[in-house]
Amino acid sequence: MIYDLLPLSLIDDPGHLAATIFTSGCRLRCPFCHNAALQKKQPPRTSVAAILRFLRERQGVLESVAITGGEPLLWPDMESFMRSVRALGYRIKLDTSGDVPDRLERLLRLGLIDYVAMDVKDEKARYGLYAPDSKTAERVHRSMALLASLAPAYELRTTVVPNLHLQDEQIVRAVYWAYRAAGASIDRWALQVYRPSPGVMDVDRSGHAATPPPRLRELARAVEETGLVKEVVLRV
Ligand code: SF4
Repeated sequence: MIYDLLPLSLIDDPGHLAATIFTSGCRLRCPFCHNAALQKKQPPRTSVAAILRFLRERQGVLESVAITGGEPLLWPDMESFMRSVRALGYRIKLDTSGDVPDRLERLLRLGLIDYVAMDVKDEKARYGLYAPDSKTAERVHRSMALLASLAPAYELRTTVVPNLHLQDEQIVRAVYWAYRAAGASIDRWALQVYRPSPGVMDVDRSGHAATPPPRLRELARAVEETGLVKEVVLRV
């Protein structure tokens, strides 16, 4: 469900002035989750009506609405919310874990999403570290295939966590998995820094220090060397 609104973000939809909408509720349990409070449904801090009123007032100033979570696609009213946002002329960027492919497919087929940033937490065999449900990896697989065939633009992204991503081969195997799911080269893969913070779900399992930039560069080289990704992006 809707949780809150950040009125201005320069980073949530790169290249666009965006308002960011947070939803609560997520079925995954990533140890490095920095929005751990949003894994469970929370009482909304704002209403859909208030958000739409805000967006109406910012028409012509803001360009984009970035929707993040939690897992936004668990919210049953997402389609109607996106339709309202679209009717106001906004671009829509979605962050997702890939856990709800049916809803992702419907929204993409309706043309309601301009850009999707989807997490690939790790190689397929290690998804049990992030998701209690053993079917999650299959749903992620299907979402990757949907992005490749239906999304106007998308990226796959991995937060590189010091204590969880110890071997380059894990990320390389994740890239091969995505390539097989997509049936084509991946448009863009973003490697993101992990930073410990008080909101992180399990800092002992994730790491007490941020990912060193040289580690990200090393992994970027490994991803590039697969030849399966058109563009590798580092977010430090
Ligand atoms: S990082 Fe994202 S997918 Fe993982 S538990 Fe947190 S909200 Fe869910």
